[in-house]
Amino acid sequence: MQSVIESVGEEVTDLKEGDLVIPTYIGECYECENCISEKTNLCLKYPVPLSGLMPDETSRMSVRGQKLYHAFTCSTWSEYMVVDANYVVKLDPTISLPHASFLSCGFSTGFGAVWKDAKVERGSTVAVLGLGAVGLGAIQGARVQGAAKIIGIDINEKKKTKGTAFGMTDFINPNDYDKSIFELIKELTGGLGVDYCFECTGVPPLINEALQATKMGKGQTILIGAGIDHTVQVNLLSLLFGGTLKGCIFGGLKSKTDLPIIIDKCKNKEIQLDELLTHEVLVKDIDKAFEKLKQPDCVKVLIKF
Ligand SMILES: [Zn+2]
Repeated sequence: MQSVIESVGEEVTDLKEGDLVIPTYIGECYECENCISEKTNLCLKYPVPLSGLMPDETSRMSVRGQKLYHAFTCSTWSEYMVVDANYVVKLDPTISLPHASFLSCGFSTGFGAVWKDAKVERGSTVAVLGLGAVGLGAIQGARVQGAAKIIGIDINEKKKTKGTAFGMTDFINPNDYDKSIFELIKELTGGLGVDYCFECTGVPPLINEALQATKMGKGQTILIGAGIDHTVQVNLLSLLFGGTLKGCIFGGLKSKTDLPIIIDKCKNKEIQLDELLTHEVLVKDIDKAFEKLKQPDCVKVLIKF
């Protein structure tokens, strides 16, 4: 999503009418314990708002007298929205607008998880479960970081072309085999497993496949896919044998420090996002966008206002 500022409140000093911005669901204050830390992007002053309300616990939007919620601060499926100024990032207006609209989550989350959260080293082996926008971002991040082997896993065969376009070196469609995903990944890595496995599907049982697909003693599994179910039984053996399981929100990206770096990379064509855009709809046809998301050839639907 990218938006143009229609007006600003009295105390807003760094934004003005006409500025192009990306709404984000996490802020950055530069001052709190977490903003100072290099270990996390989860600002304590401007956290991810799960209440659906503004930071002062009010709603500033309504329709026909009925209160509307500020979903994740952004509420992006409308022509106008009210957003806390701490949850927007200013954009260079020369960037491709469709590309900018893909950067508030999705691709950036995958890219950030590899770059900022896992800090994947040159020459590493990487596996990515699920090749939606998040997974494709992780693949691109691994390529930029210089990973030697980047294995993409998806049950949708059409994702093979997409993954390859973003830097994937090997593709596994688990439906083609009678083996577990972790066994297939180990076969591609000389039996050792990968240094890093990124779980981007949000399907909880796949956490165990990811854990067992990583190297004994030092493999890292990073959870970035968000699904509906939040609990699963975890195979503890992989952890006892030195594996790490962790997760991050928004790929560990600090909204004001790191997101502009990704935006710049897109503007300079160091990162090419054309392959993400597969469909377009008008906002009045937004219900059709959900149908398109179920099609095997769909990655991102651009909603035009
Ligand atoms: Zn902070």
